Amino acid sequence: MTNDEVVRSRRLAVMGGTFDPIHYAHLLIAEDVRRRFQLPQVLFMPSGSPPHKKDYEVSSAEDRYIMALLATCGNPHFAVSRLEIDRPGPSYTIDTLRRLKDELGEGAQLHFVTGADAILEILTWHEPDAILDEARLIAVPRPGFDLGTLDETLGARRASKVTVIDAPLAEISSTMIRRRVEEGASIRYLTPRPVIEYINKRGLYRRTVRREEPDGETF
Ligand code: NAP
Repeated sequence: MTNDEVVRSRRLAVMGGTFDPIHYAHLLIAEDVRRRFQLPQVLFMPSGSPPHKKDYEVSSAEDRYIMALLATCGNPHFAVSRLEIDRPGPSYTIDTLRRLKDELGEGAQLHFVTGADAILEILTWHEPDAILDEARLIAVPRPGFDLGTLDETLGARRASKVTVIDAPLAEISSTMIRRRVEEGASIRYLTPRPVIEYINKRGLYRRTVRREEPDGETF
């Protein structure tokens, strides 16, 4: 059985992101959304080819998918989807939401969770109005994010279609983890241990190899 086949619920949170790498803040946000909206399942959706260009070299979709699996496999309410990483071309959110709705059938309700700074740009995404029709958006702000900008950008749609939630462990970010690995600093307690072991095994994020532990591992 693939992880996608684990998805049985018609009410679902979809955690959209690059997840390079996944970390404890993502997991806590997912659990918080699941409880708050009383959803039976959260589906992590690593983007295959992120539609908007990044200012760093994104790890392979397969590596990001495996790390998401390692981080979530202990929670029976969490699953990871290959939908975007197996679909050729840019990972448009509208294609994902439509595909999930087709699969889940009549009455499917989707909550799409991602960073507030990403949602701020939603009007530049492919078919933004259709996205807002297909799912409730859950925006997770980083510290210092100005919520007024969401109101300005989305107007009336902000109140009816977008919910903002607090970000637990907001100081943890994928950028912080990549930087720490590159610097040879510890990432212990920032992401689950199997993810750290996978990062070490695959040598991810180490443009320069520096050592903190005697064996060169960044625990
Ligand atoms: P990203 O680089 O993954 O993340 C942007 C910000 O949001 C970062 O601060 C990130 O923190 C945070 N974040 C990411 N995923 C999160 C989650 N599930 N919950 C809470 N915070 C999260 O963002 P992106 O590449 O712009 O993509 C975000 C989502 O929007 C993806 O699903 C992507 O496919 C979708 N998107 C769609 C389109 C389109 O359809 N045209 C265009 C752009 C984005 P961390 O770095 O710590 O994760």
